[in-house]
Amino acid sequence: MAAPEFDVIVIGGGIAGVSAGASLAAARKVLVIEAESQPGYHASARSAAYFAPAYGSAAVRRMTVDSQAFYQTPPVEFASNLLKSRGSLFLARQNELGLLEDMATDQPGLERMSPAAIRAQVPIIHSNVVGGLFDPVGGDLDVHAILQGYLRQLRVRGGTLQTDARVLGLDRVGERWQVRCHDGVVASAKIIVNAAGAWADEVGRLAGLAPLGLQPKRRTACLIAVPERLNHGRWPMCVGIQENFYFKAEGAHLLVSPADETLSAPCDAQPEELDIALAIDRFQSVCDLPVDRIQSRWAGLRTFAPDGNVVVGADPRLAGFFWFAGQGGYGFQSAPAMADLICQLVRKEAVPRSQTALLAQLAPARLVR
Ligand SMILES: Cc1cc2nc3c(=O)[nH]c(=O)nc-3n(C[C@H](O)[C@H](O)[C@H](O)COP(=O)(O)OP(=O)(O)OC[C@H]3O[C@@H](n4cnc5c(N)ncnc54)[C@H](O)[C@@H]3O)c2cc1C
Repeated sequence: MAAPEFDVIVIGGGIAGVSAGASLAAARKVLVIEAESQPGYHASARSAAYFAPAYGSAAVRRMTVDSQAFYQTPPVEFASNLLKSRGSLFLARQNELGLLEDMATDQPGLERMSPAAIRAQVPIIHSNVVGGLFDPVGGDLDVHAILQGYLRQLRVRGGTLQTDARVLGLDRVGERWQVRCHDGVVASAKIIVNAAGAWADEVGRLAGLAPLGLQPKRRTACLIAVPERLNHGRWPMCVGIQENFYFKAEGAHLLVSPADETLSAPCDAQPEELDIALAIDRFQSVCDLPVDRIQSRWAGLRTFAPDGNVVVGADPRLAGFFWFAGQGGYGFQSAPAMADLICQLVRKEAVPRSQTALLAQLAPARLVR
């Protein structure tokens, strides 16, 4: 029997692949194909679920700002409360004040915070923290509801999700791509969108492409207990100005991360004892809160292009092959705007002139040698 034909096959069922698939399904016959038994198993199930418009490169920040309206007023297929407001507080010790100044110059909209104002917001912070910048425009994302919303939208629009299907081969036959899994060719399409996260360069290789240099980096997080009387649910997300730790409320707990970026091969990332110890050490270097027990711990891979920007667009070397990868630490906060962009590019729609420079910053061509 001939393999089913689609207009677009998206490889990868994380937030990138599912959001791209759902957006494309409005006007194309789409298959999203995922190696694991459920979508969102890798990086997308392991994030800190934060929306920070002040975080990332200028291009990422713009895509994050452009995603805010979607999260505040999502389409009908989504739950309504996807973004719960919570500011971010960037913290500096004496020897880090220069970095704080750099950030204040780069982002003049952020509020300067005195040591007293910092401790009024987050009373456990040590007196060694002497400066802060506050961004009121951030929040907690309901990442589970976001992924489910995109999956529902994909389904409602007639798209297909196939799980337990690791793509092992990509063959160009005429003007179409044939996608091979362990039991042979499973589908064909004119267009492939590579949204394989940490595996994106491996998927590129299946199509015969030299890698773009995408690099997975492990990041660790854990949950610790907080006494209820501290009312930590109201605290902003706190981030070291060197991005060497962050913590934020997560239900009854605090999520703490050493903001590690350890190079890794693509894999099912697991937390290392040393990184958990580092998380607690860095947390306690700026906070007075005993940590008796780690409630839970996990790690995931954040995947970056060499220049730190996301990779969105057509590969200049091969017809019908698009990249949607390198989402780094911003895959959720920028997902709606990024999905719109890949959709416009695949559909060859005119992109507004105001976005021309942005497209060049994100284009795969910048990484092809
Ligand atoms: C600890 C941590 C904290 C984070 N915090 C935040 C945050 O606060 N805010 C934010 O916006 N982002 C955050 N991120 C980043 C965010 O989680 C990622 O940017 C995002 O999940 C990346 O999504 P993705 O779909 O590209 O990758 P993934 O979710 O990894 O999806 C890629 C999928 O492709 C599949 N795949 C790979 N190869 C194949 C193949 N050959 N065939 C079929 N399928 C294949 C994989 O199985 C996988 O499911 C964080 C990440 C981590 C690890």
